[in-house]
Amino acid sequence: MALLVQKFGGSSVADPDRIREVANHVARCRNRGDQVVLVASAMGKETDELLRLAGDVSGDPLGREMDMLITAGERKAIALLSMALHELGVDSESFTGSQAGFVTNANHTNARIVDVRADRILASLNAGRVPVVAGAQGVSQEANVTFLGRGGSDTTAVALAKALDADACELYTDVSGVFTTDPRVVPEARRMHSISFDEMLEMAAAGCPKPAMRSVEYAHRHNVRLHVRSAFTWEPGTWVTEEDPVEAALIRSVVADDTEAKLTVQGVPDKPGIAASLFRHLADADVNVDLIVQNVSTDGVTDISFTVPHDQVSQALGICESHSDEFGAGGVRSDNRISKVSVIGAGMKSNPGVAALMFQTLADNGINIEMISTSAIRVSCVVDQDRADEAVAVLHAAYELESTDF
Ligand code: ASP
Ligand code: MG
Repeated sequence: MALLVQKFGGSSVADPDRIREVANHVARCRNRGDQVVLVASAMGKETDELLRLAGDVSGDPLGREMDMLITAGERKAIALLSMALHELGVDSESFTGSQAGFVTNANHTNARIVDVRADRILASLNAGRVPVVAGAQGVSQEANVTFLGRGGSDTTAVALAKALDADACELYTDVSGVFTTDPRVVPEARRMHSISFDEMLEMAAAGCPKPAMRSVEYAHRHNVRLHVRSAFTWEPGTWVTEEDPVEAALIRSVVADDTEAKLTVQGVPDKPGIAASLFRHLADADVNVDLIVQNVSTDGVTDISFTVPHDQVSQALGICESHSDEFGAGGVRSDNRISKVSVIGAGMKSNPGVAALMFQTLADNGINIEMISTSAIRVSCVVDQDRADEAVAVLHAAYELESTDF
């Protein structure tokens, strides 16, 4: 008998059939003797739809009103789930973020949790019911409704699991776990039984879409055991837990990210203060810089290249161009057709040769490396976007990920 927090993503509750399926699953868990707390996301693509509606009536909607609008999506889902549970004879009650005790700061559209006062949820559980909590929402200290941001339902689930001291936080989604790489690109990709928090965080930073990075950070900090699994096949998925040193795999996964573009500031004088000033201007404009490379200088000038998300390219270009004279730069270029390919694994900390094998494999396949960056457990190369799928496939084979068992 376990206390489980089960979070269902948008595709898992997309329509009445899905909602009934989820209710059936919850009933099965209860029959087994488990206590269940549900967290639901908005149905299907409803959050996108609400964002679009806001855009139709306003060029610059107020954060407070955006949050009031977006949180309506999850509210529909929890009421319907609770009704479906009642149909099966399972006593249940739905709660908005505010009712569930999620107190946040007032940073609308991307609020942070400051406290979880879960007494009502606890009381509901103790009364033998299934509490169904709206994901990604809370209430500010000024008593305004707040939204935790895209992917925020994962964070709601983890925070509840921590507050209730649950045995596990299960994130149900439309994939059956965390894979060694994207199975749509490499059919040999394997689902992992488990992965460490550090590796999962690096994968999220490298572009792996699920689970949301912030929720993994939260789970890591509070040691909440995560289980990423399918709401379609219901089979066991991938556990995200503390690292088991014995199990540390050299490389666990290959991740490609084509959501960034490369900017190059050419011919800047190689002297103190240029990078400081360039990246200060970018940071002040909230531009999210990822990889940075500065070349060796020849004749006292050098190039600085960095990557930014596609939706910030024009902003970043504008900043570089407007300060180009001040830096004494020769020009600014951007390239949207790049992909960042990363190999990740905690075992590389203690094993040499991981980067060498990556570079050799890319070279053997005639794939040019444009930029390189590393962390203790990740090596990333920026390559031409047209070669990214091929790069992922040859790297997956080179590290023998299709046949290693972890
Ligand atoms: N429905 C919201 C979104 O799609 C929140 C969530 O599901 O995490 O971002
Ligand atoms: Mg979602």
